Amino acid sequence: MEYKYTAIILNKRNVGETDRICTMYSLEGGKIKSVAKGVRKPQAKLAASLESITLADVTIVRSRGLGKITGSIVENNFTAIKKDEQALLNVFAVFHLFDKLVDFENPDQGVFELLQKYLESMEKAVGGGDEQKYLIFRYGFIVKLLDALGYAIGVDVCAACGCELTPAKICFSSQQGGVLCEQCAKQDKDAILVSVNAVKMLRLFLKNDLPTFAKIQAFRQDFDSMRLAVDDFLRWNL
Ligand SMILES: [Zn+2]
Repeated sequence: MEYKYTAIILNKRNVGETDRICTMYSLEGGKIKSVAKGVRKPQAKLAASLESITLADVTIVRSRGLGKITGSIVENNFTAIKKDEQALLNVFAVFHLFDKLVDFENPDQGVFELLQKYLESMEKAVGGGDEQKYLIFRYGFIVKLLDALGYAIGVDVCAACGCELTPAKICFSSQQGGVLCEQCAKQDKDAILVSVNAVKMLRLFLKNDLPTFAKIQAFRQDFDSMRLAVDDFLRWNL
């Protein structure tokens, strides 16, 4: 059977003499992998269209197992990202996490569009001379992905008692799954203090569309506070 996918190539691994296994996230089939035969031969035409960080229309012939990739047409090469070392490091960190969090063959249009918007936003951000933007897109993407996969970070009320938060002192507990009021934080020895603006940033990530994050301006300490909370949440949940 021949299958056609709109897919974003996540990574590739060499196998055998000239083959490669590509892992991709597709609109139609979710995360899939398949074999690209002979692509490491010098004259191989498929290789360029199966590089990591490429959006392509991929054809796979499969009866069972991984099948083989018989065609690939590039839709977006994300050339700017590929030429910028910092952008590349950020995208690979996101892909690594994405690959860990997302199961095989569980298609989700929302997740596909989120990943596509992340890459398109990064492509636009390259050359703007503001590397904090890369990190804002990275963390914004992670927060939205966690939400889409059902690991929502609680940011509206205290995750332990459900009370309204007073902006004076907000803590964050990965164990409880989100922000805590002052009273509940006293009983959680692993809770960390977070800045009010860090919590606002998390709310903004959850409520808004990813491309709008280009407009976010954050003070270093608020950004670092948000990042600390998300990294702690990832360590706890992965
Ligand atoms: Zn509470």
